[in-house]
Amino acid sequence: MNKQELADAVAKRRTFAIISHPDAGKTTITEQLLLFGGVIREAGTVKGRKSGHYAKSDWMAIEKQRGISVTSSVMQFNYQGKRINILDTPGHEDFSEDTYRTLMAVDAAVMVIDSAKGIEAQTKKLFKVVKQRGIPIFTFMNKLDRDGREPLDLIAELEDLLGIEGYAMNWPIGSGKTLLGLYDRVNNRIENYRPETEADRFSPLDDEGKLPADNPITKDASYRATLDDIELLDDAGNTFSEDKIMRGDQTPVFFGSALTNFGVETFLNSFVKYAPAPSAKKTVDGTPVEPTAPDFSGFIFKIQANMNPAHRDRIAFVRIVSGEFDRGMDVTLKRTGKTIRLSNSTEFMADSRETVNTAVAGDIVGLYDTGNFQIGDTIYSGKQDLEFEPLPQFTPELFMRVTAKNVMKQKSFHKGMQQLVQEGAVQLYRTYSTNDYILGAVGQLQFEVFKFRMENEYNSEVEMTPIGSRTARWIDPDQLDEKMSSSRNLLVKDVHGDPLFLFENQFAERWFADKYPDVKLHAKL
Ligand code: GDP
Repeated sequence: MNKQELADAVAKRRTFAIISHPDAGKTTITEQLLLFGGVIREAGTVKGRKSGHYAKSDWMAIEKQRGISVTSSVMQFNYQGKRINILDTPGHEDFSEDTYRTLMAVDAAVMVIDSAKGIEAQTKKLFKVVKQRGIPIFTFMNKLDRDGREPLDLIAELEDLLGIEGYAMNWPIGSGKTLLGLYDRVNNRIENYRPETEADRFSPLDDEGKLPADNPITKDASYRATLDDIELLDDAGNTFSEDKIMRGDQTPVFFGSALTNFGVETFLNSFVKYAPAPSAKKTVDGTPVEPTAPDFSGFIFKIQANMNPAHRDRIAFVRIVSGEFDRGMDVTLKRTGKTIRLSNSTEFMADSRETVNTAVAGDIVGLYDTGNFQIGDTIYSGKQDLEFEPLPQFTPELFMRVTAKNVMKQKSFHKGMQQLVQEGAVQLYRTYSTNDYILGAVGQLQFEVFKFRMENEYNSEVEMTPIGSRTARWIDPDQLDEKMSSSRNLLVKDVHGDPLFLFENQFAERWFADKYPDVKLHAKL
C-alpha cells in the first residue's frame, strides 16, 4: 500500500465494543449489525453459541463444559464504505479482566441498556473503564417493544448514575404494546413501528417538526405526549455537541428494539457517521504514534490460550496502532528486543476463522503464539524503538487463597504462577506477614482458567480457598501500620510491593475510616 492507500484504508476503520449488563440484548443487536453488514444471512448465527453450534472443535475443555466463550472475539464487516470491527466483551460468568482490556483496544463504545431496567451493575463498571479513556460512547435503549421506564427517567439516569450527558437522537412514541414509532430528531421524520409497506417506514415531519394533520398518528395521545417531551428536550435538554461526544462527555441516545429490528439501522447509520476513525496512541515517553505512520506498530491486549490442546497454542490479539500488517513480516518485540516473523495470523468472523493477509491501523489480528508474547507487549516493524503506555491494572473484586497441593512440586507451582500472573490471567497478592499467595480477579472464570492451566500446562495441582468478594484499597506506605490489619481488612501487597487492604464489606471500610480518619485509601481503575 502506498501512503495514500494506507491513509484511505485507516480512515475507513471503525473499531468498537458493546458494553452492557447480561441480558440487555448485546448478542441480539450484534446479530442485527452483522445482518446489515451482510456477514450473516439469518438471525441466530451468533446466538447459536448458546445452543452449541458456535463452539468449534478446538475450544478449551472448560469452555466446552460451560458452553461459553472464555475470551472475546472480533467480528468484521463492511458498511457504507466503512470497515467495522466489533470486539466482543463477554459478560455473565465469563466476565474477566480480558473484558476490561478489550476496551483498551477500541476507538468507541456502544452501551446497550434494557429500557425496563435502566443502568445495571456491569454496565456501570464497564462504563467507568471506557469513560476513563475519553472515547465516544453511543447509547442504545433496548427492548422498546416491551413496557419500559419513562424515557426522560432513562436519560436522567445517565447523568445521575454515570455522570454523562445524554442527547436523545430519537424518542419513542408510545411503548410496549402501544409502541407506534420513533420521533427522529436528527432526520426530522417519524420511523413507524409497524409499516405496512417499505414506503411507509418513514413519515417526514414539517419545518416545525410535526406530522401533517391527516396522518392518523396525530390523533393518538402518545404522539402528543412525544411532542411535549420533544419540546421539553429542545428547551431544557442538553444541546447536541459533537465535541463533547468525541471526548466522551456526551452520549447520543437511540431508542429501539433489537429483537424486532426496530431503530437498529437508524442507530447504525448515525454510528457510522459520528464514530471516529483510529487515532494516535502515545508511547511511554508521551510521543503520539499516528495511525497513518508508514511503519507497523501494535500492542497485545489479550492472549487466548489452549485453543487447540493438541498443540497447546495460544492466540495473541494485536490492536494495530499504525501502518500496515503483512503476513510474514518481521517485527521487533520491544520487551525482549527479539525479531519475530509474523507468519501465522488469523482474523475473526462471527463463526469462522480466516487467514488474514493484510490489515491496517484500527484492525485486530490474532497471532498464533508459542509463548513469545505477553499482555501489554508492543511490537513494531520500523527501525525506531517504541513502546506504548502500559495497559492499566484493574481493581479485582474476588479473591482466593492458593497453595500447591503437592508440596514436593513447589518449583512448577512457582513457575506457573509467575508466568500466568505476568500474562495477566489473574492478579497476585501476598499477605503482609506470612507471604501467603492470594489471587485477585474481576470474574470467577479467571480462577477456573488459572486452575485449569496450572494443571494442564505446568503440571501443578492447586488448592484454592475462596476469600470471597472484597474491596481492594491501596494505602500510602508512609501511613501504614501493620497493626491496622485484621481479618475484616486483610493487609496484602501487590506485585509491585505496594500495600493495600482487602475490606470484607462496606461496614469494615467505614469502621476503618472512622478509626483512622487521617489515612487516605484509594482504588485503582
Ligand atoms: P445479552 O446477554 O446482552 O447478549 O442479551 P441477548 O441478546 O442474549 O438478549 C437477552 C434476552 O433478551 C433474549 O431472550 C433476547 O431475545 C431478548 N431481547 C433482546 N433484545 C430484545 C428486544 O429488543 N425486545 C425484547 N422483547 N426482547 C429482547
